[in-house]
Amino acid sequence: MPYQGGKRLSGEKASKLGHLDVVNSALVNELIEQFEDQEPAQVESLANWEAIPNGETPLRLIFAVDGSKQTIRSDFPPYKELSFIKTALLRLDQHAIEKLDPVAPHPMALRDIMSDSAMYHATVLPLKGLSINGQSNYDAVRRIIFDSLQDQSLNAEPYKTLKWLAYEKWSGQQKSSPSFGCPHCEKDIGGLSFDQDEGACEHCGGHLYLTDMIGFHLEMSEDAAPESVATAYMLIHETLLLFTGIRFFWEAKKYSVLSNALFIKDGPLFLKGQYSKLVIPIRNFFDFAKQKGISVHVVGQEKTGAFFDHLEIIARNAPNNSLFAPSNEYIRKEIQHRPERAEPYGSRTNYGNKLFVKFDEYHHLVLSIPTGHYTDTDSLDVFLSLNRILVSLPPILSHRHECALVPVELANGVASLSSYPSAAILKVFADI
Ligand SMILES: [Zn+2]
Repeated sequence: MPYQGGKRLSGEKASKLGHLDVVNSALVNELIEQFEDQEPAQVESLANWEAIPNGETPLRLIFAVDGSKQTIRSDFPPYKELSFIKTALLRLDQHAIEKLDPVAPHPMALRDIMSDSAMYHATVLPLKGLSINGQSNYDAVRRIIFDSLQDQSLNAEPYKTLKWLAYEKWSGQQKSSPSFGCPHCEKDIGGLSFDQDEGACEHCGGHLYLTDMIGFHLEMSEDAAPESVATAYMLIHETLLLFTGIRFFWEAKKYSVLSNALFIKDGPLFLKGQYSKLVIPIRNFFDFAKQKGISVHVVGQEKTGAFFDHLEIIARNAPNNSLFAPSNEYIRKEIQHRPERAEPYGSRTNYGNKLFVKFDEYHHLVLSIPTGHYTDTDSLDVFLSLNRILVSLPPILSHRHECALVPVELANGVASLSSYPSAAILKVFADI
């Protein structure tokens, strides 16, 4: 791709490459031939498709989360950069979805659903060139994250959920938070004592927020934060919204309501690298619920990425109403094309295992479903409440978009920033 145009110099034109005579290169020609010779991707029978079990009743209550983010940059120096983030949790029931026109849902009917049963959170993070009350960008972002999770419009519920997860409050024990690196001296801190919101580093005495445990500071510098911090905030907040629903029913001991609800996350059940501190507590929760015999139904659906691309190929030859759980070995060889590594796929970052599902010619889904503690077993038995989750999906498959679920489409509508203040309006505020 040509370089983009700057302020004073025009962008590089693709036609300038003409004189390089790339097509005279033997190597380039060979590569082009290889592209042209390419057969449609071969469908190997390595995928072991099985029929989707039936016999269960669909879950009645459905919760879906989604988020969006928009980064605004000032046009003139000193360059400033802000990221607006919005997340939403939507509650639906199967009856409400049945009443919608599947092909062209009436906008007013959608509006009613959204106004009655959606909650959303919005915040803004300074990424570059902004100082707040004389604090460095680094400390300002840490503070804003701490405050934003306690958003009073949501009664600080996502923050309470963070504490519920970090201290594993369901266990009835007074556990410490997971350990984390100090944002001031970088030394490892054993974790904050049970139920603490703030504390001091045992090495340097620096001030700590519980939210530092999540790991945002690990990719920030003193005066700037990369856009990936905003993305990570959005993903963490979506996760906390989802678990807020679960925590609410759990703490109220409404186990029968909980076991009749499906929680859908847009994207995989995954927290990457430095943000994976919550993965172990989340797995511990699912395992605890399993030991107690309480069904908690959570599913993540990813619509892009290597797993989705792979399913696009293998789904062609798969029978309708079938599923396939790829083993660690299959993921490594067929999807990631990686050499053998010591660490199994997702063992530190995922709180659900992958599952490929094909319902019909229009709908094949990459799902993640929790297993409790990590396992690389590819048996279908490891997935928690698999059958009940799968039987709940056909009634909510979208008739408007392939491979889509109606609750996620609707949550996306609520979370979408472009449908609320337009990007131009955001920019007007950002320039003040
Ligand atoms: Zn320290």
